[in-house]
Amino acid sequence: MSHCPFCNKKIAMSKAFCSKHCKENYFQLIAIQIPKLFIKNIFIFCTPEQKDAKIEEFANRHGWRIDLVKDKINNLAAEYGYTHDDEISNYFLVRLYYFCTPQDREDEIKFFAKRHNLELKPLIEKIDKLAEKNGYKNNDESVTDKYKKMRS
Ligand SMILES: [Zn+2]
Repeated sequence: MSHCPFCNKKIAMSKAFCSKHCKENYFQLIAIQIPKLFIKNIFIFCTPEQKDAKIEEFANRHGWRIDLVKDKINNLAAEYGYTHDDEISNYFLVRLYYFCTPQDREDEIKFFAKRHNLELKPLIEKIDKLAEKNGYKNNDESVTDKYKKMRS
């Protein structure tokens, strides 16, 4: 059994996503690029109303879906430490296990630990357990190749 990387539903190993809908949402989410400075700006210097307005304007300017943009911004803001949420998001796990080399993965986790003032070793253990539970930890390295191929 494998898991759909967008909704986390269980799917057959031979499938990469549970539905066309999830596949489209997933790749749109990956395609959305949000500058770090923009996130810093809206989380540190804006009121909640200004923040919502800026996100809407940003999404419209690029023609991206607002809900996906919001989702990505919230995940990134948590990673960068701009929210108090130090939960490990699903999106973060997907990025770590499908789009990072082992070296990049280690660096990302170190950065996350630093941002949230967390001890590295318990964090690594927590991420490891979550990845295992959600089916992201696949010893089969070809999975990464499969995702790369689907992106291109
Ligand atoms: Zn799905």
